[in-house]
Amino acid sequence: MSFLEYAPAPESRAILNLRDEYGLFIDGEFRPGGGESFASISPADEKHIATIATATDADVDAAVAAARRAYDKTWSKLSGRDRGKYLFRIARLVQERARELAVAESLDNGKPIKESRDVDVPLVAAWFFYYAGWADKLDYAGLGANPRSLGVAGQVIPWNFPLLMLAWKIAPALAAGNTVVIKPAETTPLSALIFAEILQQADLPRGVVNIVTGAGATGAALVRHPDVNKVAFTGSTPVGREIAKAVAGTDKKLTLELGGKAANIVFEDAPIDQAIEGIVNGIFFNQGHVCCAGSRLLVQESVHDEVVDRLKQRLSTLRLGDPLDKNTDIGAINSREQLDRIRELSRIGEEEGAVRWSADCVIPENGFWFAPTIFTNVQASHRIARDEIFGPVLSVLTFRTPGEAIEKANNTPYGLSAGIWTDKGSRILAVADRLRAGVIWANTFNRFDPSSPFGGYKESGYGREGGRHGLLAYLKGAAS
Ligand code: NAD
Repeated sequence: MSFLEYAPAPESRAILNLRDEYGLFIDGEFRPGGGESFASISPADEKHIATIATATDADVDAAVAAARRAYDKTWSKLSGRDRGKYLFRIARLVQERARELAVAESLDNGKPIKESRDVDVPLVAAWFFYYAGWADKLDYAGLGANPRSLGVAGQVIPWNFPLLMLAWKIAPALAAGNTVVIKPAETTPLSALIFAEILQQADLPRGVVNIVTGAGATGAALVRHPDVNKVAFTGSTPVGREIAKAVAGTDKKLTLELGGKAANIVFEDAPIDQAIEGIVNGIFFNQGHVCCAGSRLLVQESVHDEVVDRLKQRLSTLRLGDPLDKNTDIGAINSREQLDRIRELSRIGEEEGAVRWSADCVIPENGFWFAPTIFTNVQASHRIARDEIFGPVLSVLTFRTPGEAIEKANNTPYGLSAGIWTDKGSRILAVADRLRAGVIWANTFNRFDPSSPFGGYKESGYGREGGRHGLLAYLKGAAS
């Protein structure tokens, strides 16, 4: 049998108009940061992309002051209709500059261009369009009469969906009438800084959105700032815990979107072809750097061998390599640190007795890469069944009855998402009802829509983003 050879189809970088250096975006303009600058590198080849400023406590203070001024003088005085106009404008500019944003995101994050182009950036625009629509309808959102904004929101986001997480934070905050200081993750600041240019293009009043770059210390200064009224954090559970402690005892409103270890449950009557695609999408989308990734596959014993064999066949066809190549399915791991963590947990998996299988793919010489990997013979007590690996690694466990599947699925400190694959609608409803997870997909996985609330139970955090629920976190009196 002969296979068609793919020819490389790299997306051109020519569309990018990057600066060598980026400052902080405060009060509507870029300005230098007081801290030591750092480099943003491409995880695919470790090459320098741009030099990025670090915001010190004083810079964070200036950003919060700018947000406060903007809140008092302009944003809180605008009608919902006028706020909505700005949000619509931002959404349209994101669409106009979609290709550029997708290339920047793939370059800086390492994710395949087909994902940033077809998933991340379209969802960013959708989020702004959706919340633009809410801005003048807050009275009709079922949140009580005359809902009022909180003031200044301090927001900290992770590196796995840099621009999408920014949209999840900024769109509802502005729609509800708040102003914002946001800190992108230190390994992926680029798309946020291009977004700052979009805000200038949209003529958003100065200070309504401020973007401060830097590492954990900058994030800590922001969430602790006494003039911040609302803290919204997406990231790891340990940092979320620290933030909860820092905010405890203040009157700041807090939402936390943290880690996960989702069960993807495949029953023996499931449509296996679709389930295989869903399993692949569930854990290998975005290199498994997904908080709601289906990282624990629970498969009914009678179909275990068939599912695992077909999964291996399917994974052998995935193309790993240049994130900017339109054929690429698996891009680069975002950082050396993350790669080390994935390697370490995989080593522990083998040591604890699980059986490892990795797709046989050519690993590029430079950059950070990890082949799609499956562990079978996994026990519920293994680290790879309990810890969030946040990489392209699937742990396969088995079950015999629906009751056992539910028990195993809920046997985790997390509770963000889950998946159910079965032919029976009644089983979907019965099982979903007993799963402790914020989002449950049936016969699909990793689907997102701005109108649908997203968030977790237990150590996956609290509060919801998306939908009408996403507004609650940014309004006074409304329970978050
Ligand atoms: P992280 O917690 O290390 O960092 C997240 C952000 O917090 C970064 O911007 C970082 O600079 C900042 N930060 C670090 N220390 C801080 C501190 N002490 N105070 C304030 N800010 C601080 O997480 P990460 O490695 O960037 O992201 C991966 C994690 O994010 C995973 O656990 C993943 O599950 C989670 N995540 C959750 C969701 C969700 O919606 N639940 C979505 C995406 C990612």
